[in-house]
Amino acid sequence: MQLIIYEKSPHSFIFARFKIFNGTHMRVFKFGGASIATPERIQNVAGIISDYADQPLLVVVSALGKTTNALEKVAEAFFKGDKQTAKQLFTALEEQHNEYARKMLGGDAPATLEKLTEFYTEIEWVISGPIEKPYDYYYDQIVCIGELLSTCILSAYLNANGRPNTWIDVRDVFRTDETYRDARIDWNFTQNKVNEIVKPALEATGMVLTQGFIGATDQNASTTLGREGSDYSAAVFANMLDAESQTIWKDVEGLLNADPKLFPNTVKIEEITYYEVIEMAFYGAQVIHPKTIKPLQNKQIPLFVKCFLDKTLKGTMIKEQTDTFVYPPIIVLKKDQALLQVTSKDFSFITEDNLSNLYNIFHGLNIKINLIQNAAISLVVCIDNKPDVVEQLMEVLSKDYKVLRNEDVQLLTVRHFTPSILEELTKGRVALLEQKSRNTVQMVIK
Ligand code: ASP
Ligand code: MG
Repeated sequence: MQLIIYEKSPHSFIFARFKIFNGTHMRVFKFGGASIATPERIQNVAGIISDYADQPLLVVVSALGKTTNALEKVAEAFFKGDKQTAKQLFTALEEQHNEYARKMLGGDAPATLEKLTEFYTEIEWVISGPIEKPYDYYYDQIVCIGELLSTCILSAYLNANGRPNTWIDVRDVFRTDETYRDARIDWNFTQNKVNEIVKPALEATGMVLTQGFIGATDQNASTTLGREGSDYSAAVFANMLDAESQTIWKDVEGLLNADPKLFPNTVKIEEITYYEVIEMAFYGAQVIHPKTIKPLQNKQIPLFVKCFLDKTLKGTMIKEQTDTFVYPPIIVLKKDQALLQVTSKDFSFITEDNLSNLYNIFHGLNIKINLIQNAAISLVVCIDNKPDVVEQLMEVLSKDYKVLRNEDVQLLTVRHFTPSILEELTKGRVALLEQKSRNTVQMVIK
């Protein structure tokens, strides 16, 4: 492709604009908390970003390390009425961010420290105020700050080290509804803001740095998109900017066929389809935020998973179709499951009316069914074993049904299974329930 030279005529400016946003000329990167957990790691991320200066780049970043968990503790303390603990916990976070900024920015630190202080003040204001709204509202006002702080530091560091960029408060771009902690994006409004704010910034500096995971309502209240939501934020940007690709930088060499913390001998998957990744996420693999794939698939934007610890590794490519790649068995283990056997007390058959009644009960309590099997007068379901939710469910069900509960079970899913892998995985275990289709085996095991 030919290089476009900016000239001062309005015509060529429009042409250049078109060239950048014709769908083949910009990338989206996402860096998670682990990739920026220490000043050295932030510098490493800056190094990776600097390698990709040949095309416009939008970078979405999470909060530093475990900051989101720490902010959750601040929100909890505040909501319990323990303002002192909330303040103490928050001060510790302030100190950590200030220390990182000083360490990384040296003489340039004061301007960034000032900006950070503005955000600190926002939170201090919230946690010293009264409690008048539901917990989820305060959670979002407090937790959203992690991403704002981390991006300020990284942006300043890049600007000071030869990678000019525009820092954007994503709350000016991502408009959401008021479902705090699980906010839904207003697609049209957000697309307009992307055109209005983000595209010109990409043109001006070649790089935009912004926050994952957060947005704002039309009343300017902060919202969050669900834990680990930055992957999804990046995908929304990729979609709206017609990016050439999205890359998620992780601490593993790519997508693996199983969680290496649970299974030895994992193998990296070179290429995988959108469909397969959605299936993996659905069965409980914590690889990529489940909402990430759709915005990418809709515009056929490939997703790369690469390793920030060794940028020379090839990583994994996720796309519509894989040509030749043969999948290894893909293993997902969901721990902390409960298996319930629900039997009608009056011996009525579990057919459509009973089923729809039961589904309504689960839906009403916001319980996701991970596996289901029905027989003449009973239904067996596997759900996440959250004690208070399961108690509530048992209470509702016990009016019309007899319920047997088996806790402490795990749900094992194997896609592309072989007899030998199943034998290996279930050795010494008891299978309480098993479902097999052509590509997938699911077992509730003890
Ligand atoms: N910082 C947020 C979290 O830890 C969002 C993210 O990392 O994607 O959940
Ligand atoms: Mg995070």
